[in-house]
Amino acid sequence: MSNSLKDFINKNTGILIRIDDIAENMNWDLMEKCEILFDKYNIKPVLGVIPNNRDEKLIKYSRKNNFWDLVRTWAGKGWEISMHGNSHVYDKKTFKKDYFNYGGDSEFFGHDYSIQKKKIEEGLKKFEIEKIKIRSFFAPNHTYDLNTFDALKKSGIKNVLDGYGLLPFKNNGLNFIPQLFYKVIFLPFGIQSTQIHLNYWVDEDFKNFEKFIVKNHKKVITFDQALERINNGIIFSILNFLIKIFLKTLRFRKKIYS
Ligand SMILES: [Zn+2]
Repeated sequence: MSNSLKDFINKNTGILIRIDDIAENMNWDLMEKCEILFDKYNIKPVLGVIPNNRDEKLIKYSRKNNFWDLVRTWAGKGWEISMHGNSHVYDKKTFKKDYFNYGGDSEFFGHDYSIQKKKIEEGLKKFEIEKIKIRSFFAPNHTYDLNTFDALKKSGIKNVLDGYGLLPFKNNGLNFIPQLFYKVIFLPFGIQSTQIHLNYWVDEDFKNFEKFIVKNHKKVITFDQALERINNGIIFSILNFLIKIFLKTLRFRKKIYS
């Protein structure tokens, strides 16, 4: 392989660690273990923080009253704090008509623009009160429509951690960092984001994740490094399109998503 091709592959290969459902109530034992692991390997993950969590499934976990102090500490370490919905309560069905055709229920899809804008503003307000800077978003259950994207843009959020592709891309005036697999998988080429739900993990899942990090930590990138790799070239646009078709078919057959 020529050196320039090797450089190209190295430059465009990496994994961004995205952790979902970070809120006052969560699996704190595993979060603490992850924090030690991340500090040891100097990993700066993206945390999907739910600003006004009202999801009953999550509220049953133990609560930390100093939650927002912790969020500020994580932000201070250079971890990216991303807005993961507002309340995390699903009040619409998508009937697979959501933008990425994941299906399932949604906090955003199907609501009028003004309602979606209000939800996003309510979330941003909470972050503002807590002095946390927000520049990215991902919706609970991966479910969006075009109004979600408009409301995000109008609220000053330009980055979404979702979508199909081998490299981050621009679409509808937003930057997308692709999130392809439910399992933590390292691809030999491309920039991907994980989705990690600590609340559903058992000890063995953490052990597997630890092994993954020990083996692949050199390929773990930061949010800013992912944004630097945005590529809307024709070849990648075609590849992204093919991946979309492939994963949608796979998902339809096997229901591999969560
Ligand atoms: Zn979630």
